[in-house]
Amino acid sequence: ARGRADSAAADRNSMTKDGKGNVIVSVRIRPDVGAKDARQEQEWDISNKRSLVAYRGREGGEYYYDNVFDTQDNNARVYDAAAKRLVRRVMEGYHGTVFAYGMTGTGKTFSMQGTATNPGVIPLAITDIFSYIRETPHREFLLRVSYLEIYNEKIHDLLVGPVATPNGAPGAQEEIKLREDSKRGVYATPLKEEIVQSPTQLLRVIARGDNARRVAGTQFNARSSRSHAVVQIVVESRERVPGGSGTLKDPKRSAIAPGGVRVSTLSLIDLAGSEKAADNKERRTEGSHINKSLLTLGTVIARLSSDKEKTTSEKDKASKEKHLPYRDSKLTRLLQPALSGNSLVSILCTIQIGSSGSIATANSHTGETLNTLKFASRAKNNIISHAKKADESLGAGADAGSRALLDRYRIEIQ
Ligand code: ADP
Ligand code: MG
Repeated sequence: ARGRADSAAADRNSMTKDGKGNVIVSVRIRPDVGAKDARQEQEWDISNKRSLVAYRGREGGEYYYDNVFDTQDNNARVYDAAAKRLVRRVMEGYHGTVFAYGMTGTGKTFSMQGTATNPGVIPLAITDIFSYIRETPHREFLLRVSYLEIYNEKIHDLLVGPVATPNGAPGAQEEIKLREDSKRGVYATPLKEEIVQSPTQLLRVIARGDNARRVAGTQFNARSSRSHAVVQIVVESRERVPGGSGTLKDPKRSAIAPGGVRVSTLSLIDLAGSEKAADNKERRTEGSHINKSLLTLGTVIARLSSDKEKTTSEKDKASKEKHLPYRDSKLTRLLQPALSGNSLVSILCTIQIGSSGSIATANSHTGETLNTLKFASRAKNNIISHAKKADESLGAGADAGSRALLDRYRIEIQ
C-alpha cells in the first residue's frame, strides 16, 4: 500500500509541476476538398506545428497551441498527440475529457469517430484502453459505458433506442436529470450504462448509440450540428489479489483486499457546431437557435481565465470557481468536474481553410474560424487544471456494489 501511495504522490507532483500539462489544446485543419493546395496562398503558416500564423486582416497574428495538425495528418496522428496520454491517465485513475469544437462541417465527427480505414479518437481510445488492461496484469478492471446527447438543453439516452421526435421532444423516454452527490459527483439519471468486456462489445454499444442518433433525426444534419454527443467510459479498477479470483468471493477477504476500487471517467464529446454559439444580436433574435450549452462553455472558459489573473492562492481559485455558471447549462454541469480542474482536458478545435487560403474567409463564414482559434487559445491559457487521482481508500468499503460488479464482470486477460 505504501508503494502505491508514494507513486500516487509522485504522479500528483509531476502533474502540478507544469499545470498547463493537464490541458491540451490542438487545432486541426480540414483539407478543402476540390481546392488546389490552399497553402499556395501563403496567408497562413503552421510550419512549427505549435502555432498558426495568420498574415492578413485585423486578426492577423500568431496563435499558440500544443498541436496544429496539417491537412496531411490522419486521425492516428491526432490521437497520438492529442489524446493518448490522457486516455492512459484515465486508466491510472484521473478523469479525462476530450472534446471536439468547431463549426459544422470542419471535421469534429470525422476526428472523433473516423472511418473504417481512418478510425477516430473514440475507436483508437478503445483499442488503447484494452492494451492498457493487458499490460497491467496486477490490477483488474471493470468498464461501463453510457452514451447521451444534449439537444435543446434536454438529455437523451442514446442507448435506449431512438430518442426524439423531429422537434426535439423527448419522445417516450423518461426525462433525464442531472444529480450530484459527494461520492459520484455530477451524474445523469436514469441513464443506461452497459458493462463491456471487449473492444468489440464496446464499439458495438457506441455504434448502437450512433444509430439511435441517426434514427432520431429526420433532419439528421440539422440535429447533429445542434446537439452534443457525449460518450462516457467509466473505468473501475483495483489491485488483483494474489491467489486468484476465488478469494474475492469470500466477503470477509474481499473487505480487507488491499486498496479500494478506483473509479475514473473518460468523456469523449462531439460538440454542437460552434456557429450556434455565436452571441451576436442577429443570432440572439433566433431564440432557440442559440445553443445554451456551448455559450455557457465559452463563458466558463473565459471566466476561468479572468479569475486566474486576479487570484493567486488555491483557496481563492476554489472559491471563485464556485461562482462560475456551471449550472446554467446541461453540458457545463455535466462537465463541471472536468472544467473545474479535477481532470485532464484535451480540446481539439477543427477549422477549414477556405479555397482562397484565407482563414478569415474560410467557408465564407467570416469570423467563425477566428472565433474557433480564439476559443482555442483562450482555453489553452485559462483552464486551471490540477488533476487529482481518484483516491482508492475512499472507495474501500463504501463501494460494495462496485466490488461485486468487479467480481462478476472484471475483464479477463487472454
Ligand atoms: P462536423 O462533425 O464538424 O460537422 P464532419 O466530421 O462531418 O464535420 O466533416 C464534414 C465532412 O468533411 C465529412 O464528409 C468528412 O468526412 C470530411 N472531413 C472532415 N475532416 C476531414 C479530414 N481531416 N480529412 C478528410 N476528410 C475530412
Ligand atoms: Mg458532426
